[in-house]
Amino acid sequence: MSNENPDQGDQNKDYSKRIPLEALSRVSEKINEKAGGLENDKCPVCGSAHNTVLETEYSIPVGQTEPLVGIGPHVPSYATACLNCGYLRFFSKLILDRIIASEAAPREEGGDENG
Ligand SMILES: [Zn+2]
Repeated sequence: MSNENPDQGDQNKDYSKRIPLEALSRVSEKINEKAGGLENDKCPVCGSAHNTVLETEYSIPVGQTEPLVGIGPHVPSYATACLNCGYLRFFSKLILDRIIASEAAPREEGGDENG
């Protein structure tokens, strides 16, 4: 009998950042909204509207000319994967988080509103 054990010391290290479920659904809703509806959020490769927000935050390195020491300049990103062909799309976490936060926050009275 083979008895493979996935728990093997150092290979257990997880450098990924998990995205909380609640945040995942907010990101998914926002992307669908920006696409003009769930059915319009289609894969540019195969045209399928079946995609999912991945549970891990990604960091895309920007113009690295030096060897990576620690964490260099990077763009923290959300990723979605097409469930039909696997095509990956990346969205700026900073921008999406800002949009979601600004639209979720209650409007303050006496701001720069007209009237
Ligand atoms: Zn696809």
